[in-house]
Amino acid sequence: MRIVLLGPPGSGKGTQGVRLSEIYKIPQISTGDMLRKAVADETALGKKVQEIIQGGMLVPDDLIVSIIEERISQEDCSEGFILDGFPRTVDQADALERVLPGSVDVTVYLNVPAEEVIDRLSGRLTCRECGAVFPKRDISPCPVCAGALYQREDDQKSTVEHRIGVYMKHTAPLVDFYRSRNKLAEVNGTGEPDDVFERIEAEVSEVISK
Ligand code: AMP
Repeated sequence: MRIVLLGPPGSGKGTQGVRLSEIYKIPQISTGDMLRKAVADETALGKKVQEIIQGGMLVPDDLIVSIIEERISQEDCSEGFILDGFPRTVDQADALERVLPGSVDVTVYLNVPAEEVIDRLSGRLTCRECGAVFPKRDISPCPVCAGALYQREDDQKSTVEHRIGVYMKHTAPLVDFYRSRNKLAEVNGTGEPDDVFERIEAEVSEVISK
């Protein structure tokens, strides 16, 4: 099963991707997590993308496509994968189609209004170790892995608004891209994560039963 999670930043792709990965036993691949790790490890890639990420812009398509191409060719992806944060442009979606024709079984589009994602992003903390996100409260360390929680630089309000603009311009067209290919399952992404997950699972089960 090859699933793409689509939706604005803060729509819950990461949280729901982890759950899907546990249920369907296929890896969740978050390009944002991979890039942040490269930055933290100060690799050549990390140095190249650090400012781009902090500014809430997109890294070049060819770079991210080659990262994904390499990742999905690995053994643990043989039964499928969950893509979180990729593709993010129509060119990336075309590239994915070229690399693995017919590759996407379903694109789950988490629909959350812009005002809500702005609130969620500027009010959340992320775990430096496992990438899990939590609402800003007095919780520390990470309840999942005991890593340190921090506010992502690109989750600060000024950058968040910019990221939403980038999403609207470059990524939102993918809703029509996948809808026109009959690969889109639109899910209401508001409310409790458990309820959102139920809605997603219903869509994915329907695809599996076809
Ligand atoms: P995310 O964790 O998905 O919000 O991604 C964090 C940042 O990583 C984005 O704001 C971009 O700078 C970069 N990034 C992640 N995935 C992609 C992608 N598919 N294409 C371009 N840039 C990406």
